[in-house]
Amino acid sequence: MTTQTLSEAKMTHHDLLKGQVAIVTGSGRGIGLAIARRLASAGAQAVITDITQEFADGGAKELTDKGMKAQGFICNVTDVQSIEKMAEDVMSKFGKIDILINNAGITRDTLIMRMKLEDWNAVIETNLTSVFKVTQSVVKNMSKANYGRIVNIASVIGMHGNFGQANYAASKAGVIALTKTIAKEYASKNITCNAIAPGFIDTAMTQKLKDDIKQKYMEFIPLKRFGQPEDVAEAAHYFCTGGSYVTGQVIVVDGGMFM
Ligand code: NAP
Repeated sequence: MTTQTLSEAKMTHHDLLKGQVAIVTGSGRGIGLAIARRLASAGAQAVITDITQEFADGGAKELTDKGMKAQGFICNVTDVQSIEKMAEDVMSKFGKIDILINNAGITRDTLIMRMKLEDWNAVIETNLTSVFKVTQSVVKNMSKANYGRIVNIASVIGMHGNFGQANYAASKAGVIALTKTIAKEYASKNITCNAIAPGFIDTAMTQKLKDDIKQKYMEFIPLKRFGQPEDVAEAAHYFCTGGSYVTGQVIVVDGGMFM
């Protein structure tokens, strides 16, 4: 390859998502922010959304400081009005929505015998019901445009279950089933919907776990390292830039922990 074609190839790589608008929920930090950064680095206009305007703006600033296109919008994924307002604001600002990454999520871990109904409900609402509600608010615009890429962040726990994570496991299993249903209902509109099931990723969510628990996980990870948010972002980038014949799938990003 000549130098010229190499630089051309590089340019194309940076432009793969040029002109596309990508909403990432819960992207003030962690995996969501890494996904927004990856999509913006490919030229997308990133819509950083989080519970408070301050968190959303913080994430957006990190990207704009690096010369990428990003703007923060407030969106609490457990609040229907907040979701609808965000979708309307994004449409009036940018005129379209090409990509939706349903990423926002929480844990409230404890064994079933101690789990309060409010812990169950909070996790199901934030991790599962939110995916239904945000998708519903956004997909109608994708349908009209006859194009869309939806990526839901599930978890290996949604495929295998885990001690102390009944609410989380059920929510993520629900996300996987919902992903396949969205894929079926919207395939005729040229909208793909896939899920990513991360294993142990080094973010605030896992940093709060005790050292002996982290050690236990490490024993089961053949690649012998915890995942980074960028590892998950790479998979999201694939679904948004390539994979036009791939829908209703779950890609596991876990260093080989489950195979
Ligand atoms: P994180 O660092 O805790 O980030 C979660 C993000 O979601 C935060 O920005 C948080 O906002 C936001 N959020 C929480 N509740 C929200 C709500 N009601 N409305 C809007 N945003 C909300 O965790 P993470 O590890 O990046 O997790 C991202 C996703 O990956 C989650 O769905 C998680 O279940 C999934 N996942 C993570 C791992 C892992 O090992 N880390 C593994 C498998 C799957 P605040 O900053 O305001 O709290």
